[in-house]
Amino acid sequence: MTTRQVRKRCQALVNALDLPSPFSVEALVRELSARRGRPIRIHTLAIGSAVNACGLWIATDSCDHIFVEEKTTRFHQEHIVLHEIGHILMDHGAGEDENRRALATLLPGLRPDVVSRLLGRTSYTSEQEQEAELVASLIHSAAGMLPPSSSPGVRGTLEVALGIRR
Ligand SMILES: [Zn+2]
Repeated sequence: MTTRQVRKRCQALVNALDLPSPFSVEALVRELSARRGRPIRIHTLAIGSAVNACGLWIATDSCDHIFVEEKTTRFHQEHIVLHEIGHILMDHGAGEDENRRALATLLPGLRPDVVSRLLGRTSYTSEQEQEAELVASLIHSAAGMLPPSSSPGVRGTLEVALGIRR
């Protein structure tokens, strides 16, 4: 798919969202949970810089869990949540990843160290990462928010290297 088609698809998806007004990520999470009939639960976690991801989505039979790096700004956390929502809405790799399935069976007694370990092994394609990031950015701009600056330090460098961020 061309970049233009990807952008069009992501834009159509965001347009169909009917964003809450006044906008907040929390309100969006609530609304999506209600609309999809599947609660989205946000968890914060000290993921650390050892892995090249700062968020993770795990789908179980009844619920979507989003794990977010706790040692970052609230603004960046919210962007990570939107990015993971992008993966959810684009239906990226649902049920495909063995690690995710294995992880889901561990819920709800999920131990942070287990999540952190598995985080480094999540396998989206770079196109899926770009789509999720695009959805996050489009929600930001649709909501009249400024996109966040890139992450500091090693993670920021990794994001650029991975093509998640420019
Ligand atoms: Zn991602």
